[in-house]
This record gives sequence, C-alpha cells and structure tokens, in this order.
Amino acid sequence: MTIHQNLIAGEWTGSSAVENINPSDTNEVVGLYAEASAEDTKAAIAAAKAAFPAWSRSGIWERHVILKKAGDEIMARKDEIGALLAREEGKILPEAIGETIRAAQIFEFFAGEALRLAGEVIPSVRPNIGVEITREPLGVIGIITPWNFPIAIPAWKIAPALCYGNTVVFKPAELVPGCSWAIVDILHRAGLPKGVLNLVMGKGSIVGQTMLDSPDLSGITFTGSTGTGKRVAAASLEHNRKFQLEMGGKNPMVVLDDADLNVAVEAAANSGFFSTGQRCTASSRLIVTEGIHDKFVAALTEKLQTLVVDNALKPTTNIGPVVDARQLKTDTDYIEIGKQEGAKLAFGGEIIKRETPGFFLQPTLFTEATNQMRISREEIFGPVASVIRVKDYDEALATANDTPFGLSAGIATTSLKHATHFKRNAEAGMVMVNLPTAGVDFHVPFGGRKGSSYGPREQGKYAAEFYTTVKTAYTLA
Ligand code: NAD
Repeated sequence: MTIHQNLIAGEWTGSSAVENINPSDTNEVVGLYAEASAEDTKAAIAAAKAAFPAWSRSGIWERHVILKKAGDEIMARKDEIGALLAREEGKILPEAIGETIRAAQIFEFFAGEALRLAGEVIPSVRPNIGVEITREPLGVIGIITPWNFPIAIPAWKIAPALCYGNTVVFKPAELVPGCSWAIVDILHRAGLPKGVLNLVMGKGSIVGQTMLDSPDLSGITFTGSTGTGKRVAAASLEHNRKFQLEMGGKNPMVVLDDADLNVAVEAAANSGFFSTGQRCTASSRLIVTEGIHDKFVAALTEKLQTLVVDNALKPTTNIGPVVDARQLKTDTDYIEIGKQEGAKLAFGGEIIKRETPGFFLQPTLFTEATNQMRISREEIFGPVASVIRVKDYDEALATANDTPFGLSAGIATTSLKHATHFKRNAEAGMVMVNLPTAGVDFHVPFGGRKGSSYGPREQGKYAAEFYTTVKTAYTLA
C-alpha cells in the first residue's frame, strides 16, 4: 500500500505511517497515512512563515481561481470522497456525500469572498485627514480538527484562512486523515504556491503540541474536546496569539405540549441519533412537557425500532458504527452511569454484531432522567439521549439553559409566542425551531456560547473576524 505523505513546503514527505481503519469493518485498512514528527511540524511552520509575505500580497483573482478549482474538484468527486469519508469515520454514505458537497460549497463560497474583500473610507473628525479601515491577514494559521466531520471542518477552516491571505499548517485528527489528505492534494494541484498550505498528520501530543508551543503561529483555530481546547487557550495566551475554539455541546431539544408530534419525533431522532450521535450539535437532552411526554416517548421509541444500525456503506443503514473502540467504551460507560443514576433505559443500550466486525451500538434512549445526572451534564458523543420530563414551558427553558454548554438549542412547538421567546432566551449560539439541533447552512455563522466556544464565529462572512486583523490608517490630504 502506498503511503499518503505529509505536505511540507510543497513536497510530499514522510516514511513512517499508520493504518487508517474502517470502523464498520475493522479488517479493512482504508489507507496508510504518514505520521509527522515534532521536527516535521517545525519545518511545516517555517515553510508557512516563509510563504506568508508573498501569499498575503497575492492577487484576489489568484486566490479565487484556486479556491474555485478546489471546490469544483471536490464536487465532481463527491461520491468517491464521500465513500472514503464513510469508510474512515463511519458516517452513512448519504451523510458522508452530503458532508463532501458541503465542503465543496464552502470552497465555492470563499472563492467568491476573495473577490469581495473590501475596506472602509471614513472622514476623520479632524479636517483634511482621511481614515481607511482595512482587513489584513493574520500570518501563519494553525488548524487543528476533530474526527467527527473529516471534510467539512477542515474545509471551513482552510478555505477562509487562504481566502484572506494567510498561510496554513493543518493537523487533522489521527482517526480520519483520508479526507484531509484528499483536500490538501486537491488544493496543491489547484496551484497553491509552495508552503502556503502544509499538512502534518499525526498525534495531538506531538504534532498538535508542537504547534501550540510555536511562537510563529499568529492564530490557532481549533475544533475538538473541551480538555484540548483549554490547552490551546493556555498556550495561545502564553504566545499572545489569537485563538478560536469550538468545543463540546449538551444541546437541549424542547418538546412542548402543542408540538406537532411527527415534527418533534423526526427532529429528536435526527438530533439524537443520526451520524451516530457524534455531532457537536447533537441533542442528548430531550426536555418534554408533561402533556405530550408519554405520547412522545412511545412515538420516539417506535421510530428508534425502525432505525437500522449496520455497515456505513450499506444502502439500508440508518446509523453507522461508533468511530472507534475508545469512543464505544465511553458510550457504554455512560449507559452504565445512566442506569446507576436511576434513569430508565427505554430503548437500546446494547453493543450489536453485524456481518462485518465493527463498533455497532444500538441507539439508546433513557427516560425519567433529571438534568442533574451526569448523562445530562457531560457530553457523551454517542447515540445516547435522555428524556427529561418538565411541567411547562418556563421549566423547559430554565432546564435547557441549565448547562455548562451553549452550542445549539431546539424547540418543537406550534406556538409563535413560545418559539419567539425561545429564540430570544435560549443561551446558545444557534437556535432551531421545529428542526433538528444539528444540520446547518454553510454560508451563515456557526458557533456557540458558554463552554462550547471561544472567539469569533466560523463560516460565512463572519469568518473574517478571526482570519484577519483590522488596520486603521490616517492620511493627511
Ligand atoms: P480532541 O480534543 O481529542 O482532538 C481534537 C484535535 O486536537 C485532534 O486533531 C487531536 O489530535 C488534537 N490534539 C489532541 N491533543 C492535543 C494537544 N495536546 N495539543 C494540540 N492538539 C491536540 O477531540 P476529538 O475527540 O477529535 O473530537 C471530539 C470533540 O470535538 C467533541 O467534544 C465534540 O463536541 C467536539 N466538536 C466540536 C465541534 C464544534 O463546532 N463545537 C464540532 C465538532 C466536534
């Protein structure tokens, strides 16, 4: 098997490699991917630093053409790259192809943004002086990504970084190097100058930590767990560097008595269990008012019985495997914790066997949970959700907001009054009315509050907040 190498200073390099394993079929090696050392990482940072002056002054047409070419190629290869994504991460094929299309759309969007870079000209309060406000690139951006969106998250960080004139050192998650390698290869062939985008695959403790410790990164954009996010923050403060964190969630989905039952059940099933519950925007707290509680639990349980858990590549599969053995253990540990805490296991909870050896877990629903239980407070990141019974809307809102996180919050209701009040008062970066808590557009801001996020929003034109720095210039006329 050939080794997919790291890209440093425009050269493919690296001979030590690790196997990328398919979680739907652990006998299948998806590919061999190079593992970068601390020295490789330092070389990548040096290359990005050297490439910055020229790239930061490159023409916007050049950036547009490269980003557009990359978007077009990803779109043209959506089925092939989608299948790779499904094989390395375990998302079912339609979700994996959908995520690949989204990555292509993100590149198309920022190809357009490159042509829309603009500043402001403002009169000074003093006579005969003009003021110009412009956005300039930051410098070298370190990009560190998680495993659960192997192509969309790298795309929504790499595309704006390059669009605004930064150079990049990119470290994907160990479990899913395949899609990252594919988009770096595409961008490299699309004509990026040497050193503008560097790929260093490998361990967080080595590659990631070397990035955090480097004085030469001007910004780090990170998506991943809260624990690693805190390390990124501490190291970035040490180096007086800009940083952006997207971390965990414990997203509430409120279901009110007046909800359309079908809408509520579809939204809850999607939010809690699609993509194997491995989305930061997944809802694992279903907060349901008394009048609809029993009907909702019965209908959701019925729906869960129809969902097929199996190999991500099978057309009949609704839920693919958990990403790896470690995450499966975390999920089953939390299922035990839920039982011990006194929540009632209403559905699932078992590891299941399929034709291929993989990490298959039944979608798992607890009822009679309280918001104080660990299963309601800590992010599990698997197909496990709990129903919390509440009296009325006021208690539902208070319960929804009683969490250290604040990424996404959903409500199922036919009441305009409650929907409007919830949109204004949910303590979350994103609010969904009669929609799943997960599933967002690529051209509008993404991000959360409280323990979920830190720094400017990602995606859409708001991405400029992180990837640029503002300059105010005064000129005597
Ligand atoms: P993780 O924190 O373990 O890893 C994320 C990345 O950080 C990986 O590339 C990893 O190699 C790297 N890393 C690990 N140790 C490091 C270190 N010492 N220095 C620098 N980098 C290091 O997270 P994960 O398990 O890959 O991802 C799951 C988490 O991501 C969940 O908590 C999930 O909620 C979160 N997530 C959040 C969002 C969001 O937008 N809020 C989106 C997707 C995932």
